[in-house]
Amino acid sequence: MKKRFLLPFLIGLAAAVPAIAQQPLDALVDREIAQLVSTYKMLHASPELSHYEEKTSAFFATQLRALGFTVTERVGKYERTDLVAYGVVAVLKNGNGPTVWVRTDLDGLPVEEKTGVPYASKVKTRNEAGQEVSVMHACGHDVHITSMIGTAKMLAALKDQWHGTLVIIGQPAEETVTGARAMLADGLYTRFPRPDFILALHDSADAEAGKITYVPGYAMASSTSVDVVVRGLGGHGSKPEATKDPVVIAAQIILALQTIISRENSPLDPAVVTIGSIHGGTKRNIIPDEVVLQLTIRTYKEEVRRHILTAIERIAKGIAAGAGVPDDRAPILKVIESESAPSLYNDPQLTERVTAAIGRAIGVDNVVKVPPMMASEDFGRLSLDHQIPAVMFWLGAIEPSKVEASRKSGKPLPSLHSSLFGPLPEPTLRTGVKAMTSAVLELMKK
Ligand SMILES: [Zn+2]
Ligand SMILES: [Zn+2]
Repeated sequence: MKKRFLLPFLIGLAAAVPAIAQQPLDALVDREIAQLVSTYKMLHASPELSHYEEKTSAFFATQLRALGFTVTERVGKYERTDLVAYGVVAVLKNGNGPTVWVRTDLDGLPVEEKTGVPYASKVKTRNEAGQEVSVMHACGHDVHITSMIGTAKMLAALKDQWHGTLVIIGQPAEETVTGARAMLADGLYTRFPRPDFILALHDSADAEAGKITYVPGYAMASSTSVDVVVRGLGGHGSKPEATKDPVVIAAQIILALQTIISRENSPLDPAVVTIGSIHGGTKRNIIPDEVVLQLTIRTYKEEVRRHILTAIERIAKGIAAGAGVPDDRAPILKVIESESAPSLYNDPQLTERVTAAIGRAIGVDNVVKVPPMMASEDFGRLSLDHQIPAVMFWLGAIEPSKVEASRKSGKPLPSLHSSLFGPLPEPTLRTGVKAMTSAVLELMKK
């Protein structure tokens, strides 16, 4: 008797649970998608450079305020006091429960758009050096902003399904990795409710629209900008015996630095040392006083980063000493903290929980684990050295037939930051909104 009653009930329940959970979200997304696509196109056509996101942040703030969020604008303090930080913090309280933060970035890039879409950016402006540059959302931060507006709409409409405090932030200056630091420096976690979890998404130039890809654990590398000033004793090009030639010393340093990764670092700890620029001298027959090398260092682990910095200094000073450069002219290592970002560590437990929920919303086959990368993002800074569990997942943004053609031909697709990077708006936004909404609902469900 018991069995006869329970079995049909359980079967009914199994079928009903996803339907009950998903139907309102699907219907809500259907209702909003046309508006979201036009918001996206408007944002795409009007990008702003890092540090100058005045109109974008005001638009984002207005949208969230209209949904009932308490919004604070201009949150952030840059080291440079001549710049205004256009950070937005929007808080929606809905009873007792966890505090979940969701972050979008706001800035575009100095790239001239060549996608040829009707809503392509034609914006030109002056950069900080006073040169005229074109501006494009070549990293797809317009996709992120629109996905967060959509997520805010869903969660405001589905308030009966969750409890707690939802905080949505618009972060300026991601591309210069100065925005997250500026917001933290302005009391982000003391002026606003401190997060239990932080979520973000970033569009992917490799994955099809409709898919979410993710990396548990270390997902993106730390990025450290370093200058090495190689000092010598300059003189006439015909009289090397009276000089200490920094050009030759710099050349030896460049080659020796390659041994840090190959000979000092564990092959199990991914790391990169790239010398992207070398500048020295003015004329063929003058031995200059100094040469400046500009480096980028990428690592996942902090101890690996510290070891590499120590090794660069040791090798540079050792080679200069070997060439007879006096101690008071030894090379100088300058770490440019304001241009550096920590690695992105996706808390494995949180990643599993969130991606399982996304799988239930968009289909498990559409949620795919992918390898990490050595590129960088400043989202990781918000987790305060892994103290606050955080995850950023990838949102597929490319027309599926193009991804298929690229796989077949081996010809790479336009990457993020390319003038040809062109997300497919509707399916990308639909997936972004559904994924982020179901991730937040999983963490805040009643
Ligand atoms: Zn970017
Ligand atoms: Zn980006």
